Amino acid sequence: MSKSICIIGGGIAGLCTALALKNKGIEVSVFEASSEIKALGAGLGMAANAIKAFDKLGIKAEVIEAGRVLDTFQIRDDKGKTISTINSKAISQKYGTDNFTIRRGRLHSLLLSKIAQEQIHTSKRAISFEKTGQSIMIHFQDGSQHYTDYVIVADGIHSPIRKQLIPNSQIRYAGYTCWRAVVDNGPLALTETSETWGPKGRIGIVPLADNKTYWFACLSAKANDPDMKALKVHDLWDNFKDYHEPIPSILKQTKDEHLLLNDIIDLKPIKQYAFDNIVLIGDAAHATTPNMGQGACQAVEDAVVLAEELTQNEDWTLAFKKYEKRRLKRTHFIVNNSWNLGKIAQIENKALILIRNFLLRMTPASVNEKQFGKLYKVDFE
Ligand SMILES: Cc1cc2nc3c(=O)[nH]c(=O)nc-3n(C[C@H](O)[C@H](O)[C@H](O)COP(=O)(O)OP(=O)(O)OC[C@H]3O[C@@H](n4cnc5c(N)ncnc54)[C@H](O)[C@@H]3O)c2cc1C
Repeated sequence: MSKSICIIGGGIAGLCTALALKNKGIEVSVFEASSEIKALGAGLGMAANAIKAFDKLGIKAEVIEAGRVLDTFQIRDDKGKTISTINSKAISQKYGTDNFTIRRGRLHSLLLSKIAQEQIHTSKRAISFEKTGQSIMIHFQDGSQHYTDYVIVADGIHSPIRKQLIPNSQIRYAGYTCWRAVVDNGPLALTETSETWGPKGRIGIVPLADNKTYWFACLSAKANDPDMKALKVHDLWDNFKDYHEPIPSILKQTKDEHLLLNDIIDLKPIKQYAFDNIVLIGDAAHATTPNMGQGACQAVEDAVVLAEELTQNEDWTLAFKKYEKRRLKRTHFIVNNSWNLGKIAQIENKALILIRNFLLRMTPASVNEKQFGKLYKVDFE
């Protein structure tokens, strides 16, 4: 007997899963809250594990074509002195294409172009579900419902369905807020991704394709701080003006209307992703702080693993459980490590900065190398 399945949320997790299921011949409907599927945010850095997942989805070449591959990643102090260097070229040779950057909009349009338009239902904000025997009824904000046998929940960190399943799931504020923007490079020829960690906050520079650059700046602040919300580009420039170039120049090139601001939050790791015929994926299951640049990467991995399990198991409740088993430990590892890395990167006390930078400079490359091995090893090769 044929089974019906739907996806709630048309972000990276939802669209990649729709594509993964389409590739396996499984028909799925996607219900998206917005009136139009579009990317929110600026740029994305994606690592070798995500590129392997795109390969599984059959779109690796097109994704790479739409973005840019960089050779090194540097962490610097505010004067520009290197704290840590990662040779992405060497990593790419060992683990496959790494240090890849792309505009979110480009990735979204590419994913969207792979899915039939009639599969996608926009302006459908799920608000709750109800179990009716073996089926599930999804209730939407517009008063409509959808009956289905199985649900893949991909509606992001604030997922109302996850909140219904796990009422005490906890969204945590990381203690810093983050501005982002994409700018034209102008005369700047940027060739590496970098983060600069200093006493006045952290700023990352991510060169993109098409002569654009994505930057982000994280400042420690209280949650929802009105003073932070009031800051304009000039104020950010003023904060970072003594940092090394090209930081002040890049900020100068930014327009106020292109600034995005988000308090950095994550989902405290939860113990369960599969609930009989409902499964959580992407940020709905394991939203992480962006410090390791792995949130979207893990969403693409989820899509591949879930599609594999749904094809290999006739019983989809069991498939959801097997997906959970493969994903819990790995995604918890990312969330916890990313949280801790953020604490280290945001240190603003000058004495502690000196100690941190000294220790990081002393860290042998082999230690970093071991971490990458763990991060980039996927279980679907
Ligand atoms: C500042 C910042 C920088 C980041 N940088 C990186 C990076 O460099 N690399 C990386 O890998 N990751 C990065 N991430 C993480 C990445 O953005 C997320 O992990 C990824 O977008 C998660 O995708 P998702 O589809 O699970 O969720 P989302 O992107 O949140 O998508 C959820 C979708 O569901 C829809 N939706 C929401 N609620 C409902 C509802 N009730 N019903 C129906 N639809 C709904 C939304 O409109 C949206 O389309 C960053 C995150 C932040 C905040």
